[in-house]
Amino acid sequence: MNLPFAESYKIKMVEPIKRSTREERERWIKEAKYNLFNLRSDQVYIDLLTDSGTGAMSDRQWSQMMLGDESYAGASSYFKMKSAIQKIFGYEYFLPTHQGRAAENVLFSVLVKEGDVVPGNSHFDTTKGHIEYRKAKAVDCTIDEAFDTELLHPYKGNVDLNKLETVLKSVPSEKIPFIIITVTCNSSGGQPVSMENLKAIRKMADQYGKMVIYDAARFAENAYFIKMREKGYENKTIKEIVAEMFSYADAMTMSSKKDAIVNMGGFIAMHNEELFHKASVFNIMFEGYITYGGMSGRDMNALAQGLDEGTEFETLETRIKQVEYLGGRLEEFGIPFQKPVGGHAIFVDAKKILPNLPKEQFIAQTLGIELYIEAGIRGVEIGTLLADRDPVSRENRYPALEFLRLAIPRRVYTNNHMDVVAVALKNVFDKRAEITKGYEIIYEAPIMRHFTVELKKI
Ligand SMILES: *Cc1c(COP(=O)(O)O)cnc(C)c1O
Repeated sequence: MNLPFAESYKIKMVEPIKRSTREERERWIKEAKYNLFNLRSDQVYIDLLTDSGTGAMSDRQWSQMMLGDESYAGASSYFKMKSAIQKIFGYEYFLPTHQGRAAENVLFSVLVKEGDVVPGNSHFDTTKGHIEYRKAKAVDCTIDEAFDTELLHPYKGNVDLNKLETVLKSVPSEKIPFIIITVTCNSSGGQPVSMENLKAIRKMADQYGKMVIYDAARFAENAYFIKMREKGYENKTIKEIVAEMFSYADAMTMSSKKDAIVNMGGFIAMHNEELFHKASVFNIMFEGYITYGGMSGRDMNALAQGLDEGTEFETLETRIKQVEYLGGRLEEFGIPFQKPVGGHAIFVDAKKILPNLPKEQFIAQTLGIELYIEAGIRGVEIGTLLADRDPVSRENRYPALEFLRLAIPRRVYTNNHMDVVAVALKNVFDKRAEITKGYEIIYEAPIMRHFTVELKKI
C-alpha cells in the first residue's frame, strides 16, 4: 500500500481559536456593516480572508529574527536580503519596501504617467489602483479561457499574445511604460503563467522595445505549477525554474507576505542601475532609507530565510496539496469553483450558486456573508465590490466572474479545518434557493472601496 501524503513539518507552537454561535455572528456581521474586513479577528473561527502576511514562520525564520541587525544604514540584514534576491532571482539591484503595494507605489512613481497604458494579465487590485491613481489605464490581456471556471486549462494566468500585440500596436509606444505580468495571477484565481508564455511575452516585448515587470507575490507557486504541468520542467528544481522565469523580466515588485512567508515586507528588484537610482529617490521619500525601506533588520533576515524555504519543493507541495484537498471536498459536494484549483485559494463561483440574485446586489459578497453566518468562516469577495467603478464614467464595473475567494494561510490550518470549511459551504449551498436578496451600498470610498465599504441588507 502506498503511504498517504502528509505535511513536511511538525508543529511547535499553537494559537487558540474560538467558535461562536449563529446569533453572535448575525449580530457581529450587522455591526460590521456586512463588510468582512470590519470583523474583529476573534469574531472569526477560520480566517480565509487572505494568505497575505498570515503564514506561520519556521523555526529557522524565527531564529533569524534574533540575528537581525537594526543599523540604520548598511545593516547585515540588508545584505542577507540582497544576497538572497541575487541568488534566487538574479537581480543586481533591489530596494526593500514595507509591502507589495509600496513597491508598486515607488516603482510606478518613476514609470507611470497620466495617459499611460499598462497591459498585463488581470492586474491585481492594488496594482490597478496605483495605475489608475496616476490617471493611467490597465488593460487586461488574459486568455479568454480564464473566464470559464469549468474549463480545465493548465495555465489560466497566460497572456493572450494577440490581445497584447493589439495594445502594443494601437497605443503610441511612448504611452506604454512596461508590460506587467502577475505570477501566479491572483485575480484570475491564483492561476499560473506557463514558461512558454513568459518566454513569448519577453520576445514580443523586445520587438516593441518594452520592459517586462513581474508582480511576483506568488512566484514560487507559479514555479511549482510549471514543474508539475509543463513539459521539460518535471526534473528541474523550483529554484532552477524560478531562475529561468525571472531571466525573462527586467524588474519585479514583490509582496513578501505571500511566497516569502513573512508577516510584513516587500521589495523591488531590477537589472537597470538608472531605474534603481530613480526609484531610490521615491523609496527614501515614501519608505525609508534604501537599505531598510520600511523594514526592520529582523524582518529582512526572516524574509531572506523565507525566500529560500519558500522555493523548496516540499514547502510548496504541502501547501498546494492542502488547497487541492479543500477543492476535492467541494467537488464531492458539487459546489462550483474555478478549476483547476489555483496555488493559494479556492475561488468559489458565486454566480453559479446564486444565479437569480441580481448583479447589482453583490452576489459574491452575499455568499461570503452567508458562509460567515453559517460557521464563522471569513472569505473575501472578488467581484463587483472589488471591481469598483470606472474611473472616468464612475459607473459600477461588473466583472465577468463573481468569486468568493477562500485563501489558505501558509502552514496555519490543518485539513480538519478544511473539512469544516467544506461542510459549512455545503450547508449554504443546500440553502441557496432561500438566498434571494443581496445588499446595497450605504458608504464607499472613491478608490479601492471594497476595504471600507458599508452595506445594508435589501
Ligand atoms: C498581495 C499582492 C500585492 C500587494 O501586496 P501587499 O503586500 O498586500 O501590499 C500585489 N500584487 C499581487 C499579485 C498580490 O497578491
